[in-house]
Amino acid sequence: MDIRIEKIATPKQKPDESALGFGQYFTDHMFIMDYTRAKGWHDARIVPFGNLSLHPACTVFHYGAEIFEGMKAYRTADGSIQLFRPEQNFARLNSSAERMRLPLVDEEFALKALTELIKLDADWVPHAPGTSLYIRPFLFGADPKLGVHSIDRSVFIIILSPVGSYYKEGINPVKIMIETEDVRAVRGGTGYTKCGGNYGASNRAGEKAEQAGYSQVLWLDGVERKYIEEVGAMNVMFKIGDEIVTPALTGSILPGITRNSILQILRDEGAKVSERLLSIDELIEALENGKLKEGWGCGTAAVVSPIGQLYYNGKTYTINNGNIGETTQKLYDTLTGIQWGRIADTRGWVYPIK
Ligand SMILES: *Cc1c(COP(=O)(O)O)cnc(C)c1O
Repeated sequence: MDIRIEKIATPKQKPDESALGFGQYFTDHMFIMDYTRAKGWHDARIVPFGNLSLHPACTVFHYGAEIFEGMKAYRTADGSIQLFRPEQNFARLNSSAERMRLPLVDEEFALKALTELIKLDADWVPHAPGTSLYIRPFLFGADPKLGVHSIDRSVFIIILSPVGSYYKEGINPVKIMIETEDVRAVRGGTGYTKCGGNYGASNRAGEKAEQAGYSQVLWLDGVERKYIEEVGAMNVMFKIGDEIVTPALTGSILPGITRNSILQILRDEGAKVSERLLSIDELIEALENGKLKEGWGCGTAAVVSPIGQLYYNGKTYTINNGNIGETTQKLYDTLTGIQWGRIADTRGWVYPIK
């Protein structure tokens, strides 16, 4: 399929790189293609960034048929631009699409479309240390009718947003509240997909934590409220003794690409790594007997986010005296090193934009 390109007449003024924040600014162009059951995907185009016009009965507004991805383009020291394991994002997009009965995309074509879009908006990939171009592909149902039926029309869009460094003064340990009432997802549900609905379900607990002065919630499993699942919109890992534990992918947990990359790095180094069930009781016990050495969240946005404090059932526990642990710091340095091209990529993870 060809991609039609319609360039913007007057490029927008670029924002100040020292005050980008997250997801506030958007580049000059966006990629769109449409799907109908009869025609399949068609009319692939890169057009000036702008508002959409959608029928008010559109499936996405009523029945939550929406999935998305999140990845970044990084500016290296020599000025080139690179992605990190983008094929994994498009594979996950299709896994999410399959669950939600949205049409799958051709993964190679989607990556080609993204490459074309980034090349056109290359000047928008920021240069300041720690900044990047956040990439948001998303796909939604667009049938203009209220009946609950299988989806006949969909739209796939990619938008780009220059973002600031997640940490303004180096990486900082965060305070986490363990959520004992609301759950994010259940096995058999959509927890393993990147769908908007999972975020809708997590809003109430997130707001409660924020009001109490915590930055994220730690989710327990939806059936027994016993096993650790994720922290906010990140996967989570703990160092207990010399074992690094992360919850196994049971179906209610998002299979993070950062999580997968960290597991590979740790295993390559010969570290003791377990993907298994981790109960809240085991975690609290490890906190109380001093075996819990480090904890961190991991995901594309923050890369690695150290956990300094945990709140559970009226008690507050401090991890590593509220400092960044050695493993946490090393993982952050290694991953960001590979992503920004400061450390050689020996695993074929880097995808240069050429
Ligand atoms: C995106 C996301 C993650 C992290 O995935 P990455 O591929 O590492 O960015 C973890 N949990 C949830 C709920 C997410 O939406």
